[in-house]
Amino acid sequence: MKLSPDQREALARHLLKRFRLFVAEKTGLPMTLVARAFDVAELFGAGVPTGDAFVGRYWTTVGPVIFTPLGYSTALGERLRVLSHEATHGVQFWRDHVAFLARYLTSRGRAELEAEAERSACEVWWMLTGTIPGDLGAIDICRHGYALKTEPGEHDDNADLTRDLLEQAVTSIRAGVVSTDVGLAVLAWLRAEAPEAIVGRVLT
Ligand SMILES: [Zn+2]
Repeated sequence: MKLSPDQREALARHLLKRFRLFVAEKTGLPMTLVARAFDVAELFGAGVPTGDAFVGRYWTTVGPVIFTPLGYSTALGERLRVLSHEATHGVQFWRDHVAFLARYLTSRGRAELEAEAERSACEVWWMLTGTIPGDLGAIDICRHGYALKTEPGEHDDNADLTRDLLEQAVTSIRAGVVSTDVGLAVLAWLRAEAPEAIVGRVLT
């Protein structure tokens, strides 16, 4: 990656400001509210993590707030990949609150939201490094900790849907297509602030 640490931090701050997002660690009252929201989600079959894993390992974006695991809310420039993913969830929220919640509460809708978020992370990684992350999707879905349904024999498997969507996305990204809101914002920032740091080929 050609961006300096200061540039990476500036890019992270730019994304938060551009998409009206806030970062908080998973402590105190906000997390009590999130935990309550997850109790509701669980009623709808979302299958969410509990306890230590949720607070200690997962990034979780709720509305415009990106909750990080403990100790991860600083040095965001070193976490651009996950930040891009989570920022896309913020974009999805701002786009249409009601539609976002409706999609989030179905496993198919969640699979599509996840694919878009991970696509944005891949686009950013491609521009900054010229590579596609090898662990595409898998880690992130685990990191969120909510189960995309994978029961054997299920015909329309939503974890597979996320993977299929991502495979299509990777083909486009390798061809130089940047299409997500976060990917486009990063591209615009790079062109203005650090054009030499665009390593992966992008169209136009
Ligand atoms: Zn996600």
